[in-house]
Amino acid sequence: MAFLPKAAIQGEEGSFSEEAGVKYWGKSVVFVPKQSFEEVVKAVESDETNYGLLPIENVLIGSISTTYDLLLESSLSITGEVVTPVSHFLLAMEKVPLDGIKRIYSHPAALSQCSSFLQSLKNCEIVPIYDTAGSAMKISRERDRESAAIASKLAAKIYNLEIVAERLEDHPNNQTRFIVISKSPEETHYKNAKTSVIFTILHQPGALFKALKIFNDYGINLTKLESRPHRTEPWRYYFYLDFEGHVKDKMIREALDELKDQSNFLKILGSYPIWSDSRKVEHLEAANEEKADGSSGVSHLPLYSRDRKGTQTVITLHDPGLEAVKIGGGTFTIIAGPCSVEGRKQLFKTAALVRDSGVRILRGGAFKPRTSPYAFQGLGEEGLKLLKEARETYGLFIVSEVISPADVDLILPYVDVLQVGARNMQNFTLLKEIGGAAKPVLLKRGMSATIQEFLLSAEYILANGNEQVILCERGIRTFETATRNTLDLSAVPLLKEKTHLPVFVDPSHGTGKRSLILPMTKAALVAGADGVIIEVHYQPDSALSDGNQSLDPESYRIFMREITELQRKLRS
Ligand code: PEP
Ligand code: MN
Repeated sequence: MAFLPKAAIQGEEGSFSEEAGVKYWGKSVVFVPKQSFEEVVKAVESDETNYGLLPIENVLIGSISTTYDLLLESSLSITGEVVTPVSHFLLAMEKVPLDGIKRIYSHPAALSQCSSFLQSLKNCEIVPIYDTAGSAMKISRERDRESAAIASKLAAKIYNLEIVAERLEDHPNNQTRFIVISKSPEETHYKNAKTSVIFTILHQPGALFKALKIFNDYGINLTKLESRPHRTEPWRYYFYLDFEGHVKDKMIREALDELKDQSNFLKILGSYPIWSDSRKVEHLEAANEEKADGSSGVSHLPLYSRDRKGTQTVITLHDPGLEAVKIGGGTFTIIAGPCSVEGRKQLFKTAALVRDSGVRILRGGAFKPRTSPYAFQGLGEEGLKLLKEARETYGLFIVSEVISPADVDLILPYVDVLQVGARNMQNFTLLKEIGGAAKPVLLKRGMSATIQEFLLSAEYILANGNEQVILCERGIRTFETATRNTLDLSAVPLLKEKTHLPVFVDPSHGTGKRSLILPMTKAALVAGADGVIIEVHYQPDSALSDGNQSLDPESYRIFMREITELQRKLRS
C-alpha cells in the first residue's frame, strides 16, 4: 500500500473539517479524527500526523479565537488554507415534527450559525458538544428519539439519520476558512501566495498605524487583521496579519524587516497558496495508487483501519429497562446461550442459567445455517418470539443470526445484535443490507477466510453506514481433525493491530469441544480479546445442534468462576 501522510482533524467522520480536508487533499491523506483543536495541534507536534486542519474563520461568526491562540503558542507553520461552504441540517432518528424535539446537540460554532432557527423553537434544550458529526453519531448510537443534531448532510448518511429540517444557517452564503498546519513551512514559492504573521507593537501613539503603513508603502494587499489579548499584560495585544505575497518575495522580506524594527515580537506563521475553488493544490504525490487489496483511488484508508480512526470502537447496548452493556474499549464481555432456540423450556432454562451467572447477553439461533439440509434449521420467527420473551423475562440482551438479506427487517425488532455466521461472511448482499441497519453486528470469520478478507467483509458493513461491527474469530479449516476447527488466536492481537473494532472469540465453534472452551477463553482474554461468545445448554446431551461444544450447567459455573478469577488476577 502506498504511504499516505496523515492529517489530524477535529471531529468525527462526516464533520465539516473532514469535508474541508477532502476538498484540500482529495485522495492523498488519511484523516485522524481528534476531539479538540488542542489535540489536533498536539498530533502534529508529536509527529503522530504530518498535518493538522483547523477552522480559523467563519463568515457568520467571525474568527475562531482558539485557533488564533494555538498558533501563537505552538511552533507549527501554516502551509495551506481551504474555504468550504457550510450548510447545516437538523438530523434525527426519524422524521418528526419540530415541536416533538426536546433537545438539540451540536458544536457551539454550528449552534451560533443557526441562531435564528434555534430561537424559533420552543421548549427545546440546546446542548453544545464537541462536534457536529459527533452529535449525529451520539443520536444514532444511543437511538435517542427525543433529540436531534445539527450537522452536515453527509453526517445524515454516515449515521443513518433522517433530515428533519435543512439549510438552518442564518445566511445561505455561510462558509468557513480552514488552515493547514505542519511542522515545517511550505517550501514551494507559490506565485499566488499569502503570508500570515503575528506581531506586537510598542505602546506608543500611532504604533499600529506605523506598522500597517509599511504594507501600504510597499503596495502589499492586506487580507485580514485580527487581535488577541496578551494574556500576561492586560490591554496589550498580539496582532495577526494576513497579506498577499510570499516570504521569499524580495518586497515581502523587506517589509517584514521594517516591521521587525517597529515591533518587539514578530513571528512568521508561513506562506501558502491562496485558496481558490478552481485551482487544485498539488502538494502530495501518494494519491491514486493501487492499494494492496486491489481497490483503486486511495481516498482514505479503509474504515476498519486503526490508522483511519484514532479511538477504539465501543459499542453500547441500551434498553430503557436494562442497564447498558459496553462492548470493546477495555472490557471483556461474555455472550452465552444455546446454539439454537429449540423451544420455550430449553431457552428459558438456559437463559435463567445465563442471567444467574451475571452474563448480560444471551445468544440463540432462530435461523440456523446447517451444513446438512436435513439437520434442524431453527424455529424461524417462532424462535425470535421466544428470544424476545426471554429478553423481557430475564432482562438479557439478545444476539441472533441472520442468514438472508430478506430476513433482516423481520429479525431487527427481536434482537440487540445481529450475528452474521461464518458461512455468510462473504454474503455481500447480506453485508450491505445490514450495513443499513441501526443495530450492532457480530461478524464471524469465514472458515477459510484470510484476515484481510475478514476485514474487508467488515468494511462492507461499515461502508454502508453501520459502524457498530464486532469481529469474531471462530476457528478456521486446517488439516487438523482432532478439533472441529483450528482456533486462530493469533488473529486476536493481529486484528487489534489493524482495526479499532472490538474483537471476540468463539471457542465453542473454534474447537467443537466442551472441555476446550474454558482454556481457550482464558487464552483469548490474555491475548487481548474484547469478549467471547460461548454455547451453553441446560441439557447439552439433548441439544438439537452443537451439544458437544456447549457447556452444561456445572461446567458453565466453573467457567464463570475461573474467568472471573482470571480477570481479577489480570487487573491486580
Ligand atoms: C453459531 O454461532 O451457532 C454458528 C452457526 O456459528 P458459525 O457461523 O461460527 O459456524
Ligand atoms: Mn452452534
